[in-house]
Formats: sequence, structure tokens, C-alpha cells
Amino acid sequence: MNALTTDPFSTSVLIVGAGPVGLGLAADLGSRGVDCIVVEQGDGGIFHPRANTINSRTMEFCRRWGIADKVRNSGTPPDFPLDISYLTSLQGHVIAHIPRPTYGGAKPLPTTPERSQRCNQVFFDPILRDLAMSFPSVDLRYNHRLDSIRETAGGIEAMVRNLAAGRSETISARFLVSCCGGHSPVPRTLGVRWEGMPALSHHLNVFLRIPDLWTRHDKGKMAFYFFVDKDGHNPSLIEIDGNSLWRLGINLRDERVDPKSVDIDAAVRRYIGSDVPYEIISVLPWTCRSIVADCWRKGPVFLAGDAVHQHSPSGGFGMNTGLGDAFDLSWKLAATLEGWAGPQLLESYEAERKPLAQRIVRTATENRAEFSAPDTRAIVEDDTPEGATARERMREGILRDRTQVFVSDGIVLGARYDDSPVIVADGSPRPPDSIKDYTPTARPGSRAPHAWIEPGISTLDLFGKGFTLLSFGGEATSIAQAARAKGVPLSIVAIDDPDIATLYERKLVLVRPDGYVAWRGDAAPDNAAGLIDKVRGAAKAIA
Ligand SMILES: Cc1cc2nc3c(=O)[nH]c(=O)nc-3n(C[C@H](O)[C@H](O)[C@H](O)COP(=O)(O)OP(=O)(O)OC[C@H]3O[C@@H](n4cnc5c(N)ncnc54)[C@H](O)[C@@H]3O)c2cc1C
Repeated sequence: MNALTTDPFSTSVLIVGAGPVGLGLAADLGSRGVDCIVVEQGDGGIFHPRANTINSRTMEFCRRWGIADKVRNSGTPPDFPLDISYLTSLQGHVIAHIPRPTYGGAKPLPTTPERSQRCNQVFFDPILRDLAMSFPSVDLRYNHRLDSIRETAGGIEAMVRNLAAGRSETISARFLVSCCGGHSPVPRTLGVRWEGMPALSHHLNVFLRIPDLWTRHDKGKMAFYFFVDKDGHNPSLIEIDGNSLWRLGINLRDERVDPKSVDIDAAVRRYIGSDVPYEIISVLPWTCRSIVADCWRKGPVFLAGDAVHQHSPSGGFGMNTGLGDAFDLSWKLAATLEGWAGPQLLESYEAERKPLAQRIVRTATENRAEFSAPDTRAIVEDDTPEGATARERMREGILRDRTQVFVSDGIVLGARYDDSPVIVADGSPRPPDSIKDYTPTARPGSRAPHAWIEPGISTLDLFGKGFTLLSFGGEATSIAQAARAKGVPLSIVAIDDPDIATLYERKLVLVRPDGYVAWRGDAAPDNAAGLIDKVRGAAKAIA
């Protein structure tokens, strides 16, 4: 039971699933003082490594939550080379090498205070769990399975099975957010349908311990080895801890086979080496999909994370996008529960996140496109002049086409909510959409850009619980009065720095609690109350 309620079966927000998205949502709600119960059918153990990439935007959330250093220090060591190699095997031919700076060694980035990190979910999820549990308003219940839900006058009633005690319990909540990865009865009860392709290919991931792998081949230490073979299975070997933990991914293509029938030993011998000692820790069969849910909310019930979007891991977007959903929804739920939001604020969740998820799913699906033609592949392993020419042709294609798989700042930092009902457009043209390149902009609907205000303090550190009105010499009084009249928490921050003023382009910039620009102008609008109503979701348009 959390410290804010006396009834263990009643809460403001019931979260289904303690994967990274459920935990991230609980942590952000907890940081806002919102009481929530998280029910998770598992016992909290993580048996197989999935997401590795904590992208810059997620690291910005971690910075907000005060766990960025912990994440940095928990995954791959800062000096581990993050290079990528395409090769026929660790004992065979190198086809292409993509060098990348290590996370620890390079200079600060101009666009974000936080570099992306490699910190696998086996390390990251426990950090999120500890963070969530550090807030007195969060009540995390493992071994609790949600079985069914029913809408009530006051919100939602959920039937939950306490698996440890062997009894059923009823939990009532004002809102329910299903972060169940699509596995609970919630999506089905809501009648949610997937749009897209439910099965692109089937895969088997093998979690391995291979001590000192780099001493057993001459290809160098890398984060990713992508193997190219004649039959197009193209396995990958990915580092998990910068030491002895690795994940071998085998593409089974169209076949959904019994994992027990896959000869893992043969794959290790073929791609890694015949005399390399290894131990299998766990095996995970999974299906690569390209799908987005048609509906993200019905009444008091919301869906987030893999429950609404699933796609290829190429590009490392899945968990990061889910945490973005949680970050977008959390402050809107808090504002609604605190009583200062209009009904459109919660409606804006799907309007903002679904188009972004559709773009990300498209990108991840493109990322997994074949990078080699069958006739080239057929000879790529050959020790002949034709084999060498095939490898050279493949190398050119890889260097030309594969960069966006590993560099996607345009989507990660440049994600925009252009058509949101709670954003006030300023008439400036939409910036071009790029996957790879991010151009900082304070145009409404964009993530407010990063700049250092002083050493160690970013503009992003100014944003948080309420709205923030940045003033670069603008007169903010009427907006502050309008916010106060509607109970909207707003702080005004005057910035006297010409470079940051140039970056933000207007004298007044209104930034939401999630760090997105809601409005900007050189002077307060005549109808400041209308502006506040628009951004809190209580008006259709400002006068
Ligand atoms: C091979 C692979 C590599 C990946 N690499 C990356 C990467 O590099 N970067 C990235 O961002 N993403 C990556 N992903 C995707 C990432 O793992 C997922 O997007 C992420 O785990 C989704 O988080 P989630 O919390 O939405 O769902 P999940 O992690 O699936 O968690 C859902 C939770 O809900 C619980 N649950 C389900 N039903 C119920 C119920 N009825 N009652 C109670 N609890 C319930 C489940 O037990 C589970 O714990 C990868 C995925 C795979 C398969």
C-alpha cells in the first residue's frame, strides 16, 4: 500500500505491467506525487537481454529523474568501442567497419546534455524499479496478474489475481494504463486492433557468456558484429556488458520453429569460432512485427509502450518510444488529477504519440531491409577475386544505407507534435523531417532545445512539474495572471543570454512539463486566458 492512500484496493492510476514502460510511468507519476498501483504478473526477474540502447531522449528523462549517472555506470563501460563490423564470421572476412565514438570519451554534444548509452534492460529495468519504489506514492505489486476490467462511474474496476496468495482482488482506480506489452486482456477488452504487419520474420536470441571473446579472433573489440552469409540468415552478435555477456541473434526468416530444433552449437562454431568456449544463459524466440494499435485510449483506460507499437529492434527505438509515451502521458494524468487540465489534454496523448509511433515503426521496418542481393551473398564468403569484389560492393552499400540504423537524432531529439490539439502553431514552416539529422528548433510542438545556461545546467533542467515561461526580455505578466486564474502551475524564467535567445527565436516561449514548446511569441497574446485554456486542453482554439 502506498503512503498516500489508506485503502489498499483503491488508487488514482492503476498500471498494468512492470516492464520498462510501466516502471517509467510509475516513476514519473511518483515524482509528481500521484498515487499509483503497479500490478505485474512476474516476480521481477529478467532472464533475457532485450533493449540495449538508452537513447539521448530517454537519458534526458533519466537526468530529470536523477538516475543518469547510475545508468551511465551500469551498462557498457564508457571506454568500450561502440564500432560496428559487418563480416562473414569472426574467423572470416571483414566486409565493412563503421567506427563510432565511445560514450565516455567524446566531447559534450551541442544538441543534448545526455549522450545515448548502452545499458541493457537487465541492468536498466532494476534501476527504474528502484526509482519507482523510492516514491512513497508508488505501490509495486509483483506476482499480481490483471484478469479483467470493467468501467465504472468513477473510473475503472480491475479484477487482479494475487498469485502468491492464490486469491482474487478487486482494485478500483480513476485511470488505468496498460503497459502490458499487448499481453494482458486490456487491449482485447477495449476492442483494439493492430494496423500493419503482424509477422515479418521469426528469430531466436541466445544469451551467451563468452569470456575474453576478443582474445580469440583478430577482428577487434566491437559492440556489434553483423554476419553476412550465403543463405541470408545474417546472424548478429551484440555485446551486453562490455565483458563476457553477448547475445547471438539468429534470423529464422519465415519459419516459426521449435527453438529446441535450432542447432545453436553449429551457429556458434560457424560464426564465432570452433574452439571458443561458451555457456548458454537463456534462449528467447521472438517475432519481428510492424504494427501500431488503432486506438490508444478508451475512456479512463490508456495503452502505452509495446501494447500500442511493436517493430524491428533495428535502430533501438522500442523501449525508448514506450518511455516517451509514459513521459507524455504522466504529466497529463497528473494535471487532470490535480484539477487544472481540460478534457483535451488527455485526448492529446494519442494525437501526439500515435503519428510518431507510426513514423518510428516505418523507420524500424525500413532499417531491417536486406542490404545484400542473393547473387552477391552467394559468393561473399569465397576466397576468390569474385568474392573480394562482392564484399567491396556490399561494403559500399552498407556504408551508404546503414548509417540511419545507428544515427537517428532526427527522430530521437527531433520528434514533433505538429498537429497536437494542445499546441499553438506560430505560422513558421514545418522543418523537414529527417531520421538522421536533428536541427534544434523552438517551434511549437518541438522539444525545447538544449543549451548550457551555465556549466552543468541545461535549459532542459528548467522544465518539470508545471509550465515554464522562458522570457528573453518579453513581458510575461498577463500570461502568469491567466495561468494563476486557472490553477495552472507556471514559473517564469528570465534568460539573459543572446545565444540562447537566438536559438529560441522569440521573446517569450512557453514550455510544457514534458519539455515541449506549447507556444511562443514576441509578446503575450491579447487573450492570454485563451492561450492558457488551449495548452491545458480546455479550449478548441484561441481567440
Ligand atoms: C531482441 C530485442 C531487442 C530489442 N532492442 C531494443 C533496443 O535496443 N532499444 C529499444 O528501445 N527497444 C528494444 N527492444 C524492444 C523493447 O524490449 C520493448 O519495446 C520493451 O521491453 C517494451 O516495454 P513494455 O514495458 O512496453 O513491455 P514489456 O517489456 O513487454 O513489459 C510488459 C510487462 O507486462 C506484464 N504483463 C503482461 N500482462 C499482464 C497482466 N495481465 N497482468 C500483470 N502484468 C502483465 C509482463 O509480465 C511484462 O513484465 C528490443 C526487443 C527485442 C525483442
